[in-house]
Amino acid sequence: MRKILFVASEVYPLIKTGGLADVSGSLPIALHALGQDIRILMPAYADVSEALGPLPSRRIHQINGAIDIFETVLPGSAVPVWLIGHEGTFDRPGNPYLAPNGKPWPDNDVRFALLCRVGVEIAMNRVGLRWSPDIVHCNDWQTGLIPALLEDEPTRPATVFTIHNLAYQGLFPSDSFRKLALPHRFWNYESLEFYEQLSFIKGGLVYADRISTVSPNYATEIQGEAFGCGMANLLKKRSDRLSGIINGIDDEAWNPAIDPLIPAKFDAANLAGKAVDKAALQQQLGLRQDEEVALIALVGRTVQQKGIDLVLDIMPKLMEMPVQLAILGSGEKKYEQTLKQWSQLYPDRIALTVGYDEPLAHLIEAGADIFLMPSRFEPCGLNQMYSQRYGTPPVVHGVGGLADTVEDANPQNLSMGLGSGVVFHEASASELLRAVKRALVLFEDPELWKKIQQVAMSKDFSWRQSAIKYLDVYELALNDRHGGLARSRMASLS
Ligand code: ADP
Repeated sequence: MRKILFVASEVYPLIKTGGLADVSGSLPIALHALGQDIRILMPAYADVSEALGPLPSRRIHQINGAIDIFETVLPGSAVPVWLIGHEGTFDRPGNPYLAPNGKPWPDNDVRFALLCRVGVEIAMNRVGLRWSPDIVHCNDWQTGLIPALLEDEPTRPATVFTIHNLAYQGLFPSDSFRKLALPHRFWNYESLEFYEQLSFIKGGLVYADRISTVSPNYATEIQGEAFGCGMANLLKKRSDRLSGIINGIDDEAWNPAIDPLIPAKFDAANLAGKAVDKAALQQQLGLRQDEEVALIALVGRTVQQKGIDLVLDIMPKLMEMPVQLAILGSGEKKYEQTLKQWSQLYPDRIALTVGYDEPLAHLIEAGADIFLMPSRFEPCGLNQMYSQRYGTPPVVHGVGGLADTVEDANPQNLSMGLGSGVVFHEASASELLRAVKRALVLFEDPELWKKIQQVAMSKDFSWRQSAIKYLDVYELALNDRHGGLARSRMASLS
């Protein structure tokens, strides 16, 4: 049994903006089920504090002044959660990173440096919680300073840093470095400096004993120019410490056989309920009631990463085909507006819902026929796994986790009992269009389509397998940590 401090800036169901929250809400539970003593550390955002009500807390004193550490558990589990409260820092409602004007809070450097500093103090058992972790598991840039700051601690735990999306790096002007009073030696390009800016993520990438990312394919891709976001060389240098572990999904929340958010339940053996859900979805979204038409869905952030511009590019061609579209998402205003124009042009064929709507996401997964995920890059991606689980074969760009979790339904794969979606290999409108056409050809053959649905639905995306792989990474981190110590002791003797 290991003691693991899991630090993240968002944890489902307490607060969520994307896949990081899903992982942070599921992986600790899976590790707990494997007998580990895992505890979560995250900020006490206003919405979280309000939802949880009064909690027991202890007050500690830091360079930032008085800090409250509230104690609770992850809802529906026994996993302890520590929430960091600091007046004026995290107690702001809404998005954890963005101000109401949609721009990052101007003091995000100070806010997340505080998360890191408290993480270090808890990791070193210096705040009276009477618990010393063996491993600190940090996630994304918001926690990146932890492995760096722990470097100065001779008796530190081992550190693991997980990249959920390398495109978000926590870059701040050089002034931040001084403002945060970071040790001077960190200001060089082999440390936290990135082209004269302060990079939070480099703290994790340079100093963590082990680095992981959320799919094996993305682990390889980020060592190359195209997906490396300026970190390819650093990651190549650390490739012996870098691995990819595919995310699992919450297979109770996302199970069409028991999902309380869909009107008719179904499973791979009996898909009848799916047709009922399709009708319900069409009705709820104001789409024309039509059993035969292919209902194509897209759920996610409407940003360039997700290839939403490619979908817009093929919209005229799509509207020449016998399809309906159900789109749920929010993101960049320009995409939202263009999508809105299309939905106004074809009100009974294109349904757009702007916003974040968990129940609708479930109904869409259940009621749609085909799911679209043409992401330019995708560290792991969750929706393609949900859609396979719900018998809604996805059309995906074969990158990152999409390539690791979807097998193309080509004749060769189909003959081997594989093929759970359609995979295309170039992020272009023409390739996306070809892939959609291929999916429609398959969809028009009910027997074949059912086979693809069943292959998709029978896949195991549970967290257990992934959690076991994280345990291996923790052991490797501990080995590296102690191997490193032994090596430095030997060096000092010689
Ligand atoms: P990312 O983390 O890049 O946004 P992922 O596919 O890894 O993408 O995870 C996105 C998560 O957020 C999934 O759980 C998805 O269902 C959910 N999601 C995204 N947008 C919406 C939305 N508008 N309404 C409901 N759920 C959404």
